[in-house]
Amino acid sequence: MSKKPKSMMRRIHGMMFKLPLMITCEQFEDFILAYLEDDLPKRQKMLFEIHLKMCRECREYLEAYRTSIELAKDAFTPDDANLPDEVPEDLVKAVLAARDT
Ligand SMILES: [Zn+2]
Repeated sequence: MSKKPKSMMRRIHGMMFKLPLMITCEQFEDFILAYLEDDLPKRQKMLFEIHLKMCRECREYLEAYRTSIELAKDAFTPDDANLPDEVPEDLVKAVLAARDT
């Protein structure tokens, strides 16, 4: 007699309690850049995406972050040579403002 295989739900349930699948919003922020550069290790990426699904604030934050980066890119291209070392203050403000909403 072979044991009945565990259902997917049960396996996921077990995993949830064995692994720390939850990351905090602060950790989420730490991962954002690596995520956008597709530079996250598989496991972190999974954690990031789980958090993304569960946390509306971080979804909105990621969206605003992405938009800011796109705007910044538009502002700097095509003359990449002129890219300043310092982040323009307006951009910082825009990102911070997006976070507060
Ligand atoms: Zn969050």
